[in-house]
Amino acid sequence: MRKTIKEYLQDRLPDDILEDIPSSFDILGSREKSVALIEIPKEVEEFAPLIAEAIMVIHKNVESVLSKESGREGEYRLRKLELIAGNPNTEIIHKESGCRFKLDPRETYFSTRESTERERINQKVNPGEKVLVMFGGVGPFAVCIAKKHPTVKVTTIEINPKAHQYCVKNVKLNKIQDQVTPILGDVRDICPELDDKFDRVLMPLPKGANEYLDLAVPKVKCEGVLHFYHWAHEDDLWSEAEVLVKDIADNLGRKVEFIDHQQVSLYSPRVYKIRVDALIF
Ligand code: SAM
Repeated sequence: MRKTIKEYLQDRLPDDILEDIPSSFDILGSREKSVALIEIPKEVEEFAPLIAEAIMVIHKNVESVLSKESGREGEYRLRKLELIAGNPNTEIIHKESGCRFKLDPRETYFSTRESTERERINQKVNPGEKVLVMFGGVGPFAVCIAKKHPTVKVTTIEINPKAHQYCVKNVKLNKIQDQVTPILGDVRDICPELDDKFDRVLMPLPKGANEYLDLAVPKVKCEGVLHFYHWAHEDDLWSEAEVLVKDIADNLGRKVEFIDHQQVSLYSPRVYKIRVDALIF
């Protein structure tokens, strides 16, 4: 069994300091090269280099340790990540469910914690569908869907040029160029220009996807599915999201039937990232 950071440092730090040393962190990458992302509490900030050393000794494939200096912010939903130790080149290839994603976590959004959600969506996709991923990032939904469903075509739109470039690379890396079309731009400009309507439209932008519902709903075919992500308090997880979707659909003369909902992950105490699935007529 691998040592924990605390076990590695127990002879080098007093017990009261060890108490505040984090025990969890994320690793992105592969056996060949990985980066670790860790949130270090203020109380033990001065021991950051020791913590990084521990991670790199315990996980031999970790070449860089980045500390999370902020929550996700801005249009690109990026964290401030500071290199505490190791290789300043933090580009990696992350492996997940038979797919490979090249990315740099300092330049693009990517969350290993959302692999289960990607798998859930994948289970819902049917052969032959046309899928639109708004807010596509480096392409995790598009790539997972296309890899698993060889008869499905996916269009994925992303505004961050770096994330778009990685998405183009990831489509090649996973040999699905004939199935996935990555588009660089703002969904507000791109969606109205798309000729197609889609069997399935994903909106994986929990902060503010509601502002783009007027663009998403018209892109869903009659009897197609909209996957709408939102944040909600545990006291009432679904009402607000459902009202937002229904109001826009009503305005556009479309009917809605809610067919599923999902608590995706905990965002902050008692607040969840959620998904509601709407059949649009
Ligand atoms: N779907 C990706 C994933 O699961 O890794 C990315 C999700 S991230 C929460 C949202 C993404 O939407 C970011 O990469 C951000 O740059 C992009 N984005 C934000 N506003 C956008 C817009 N108006 N048009 C296109 N993309 C946008």
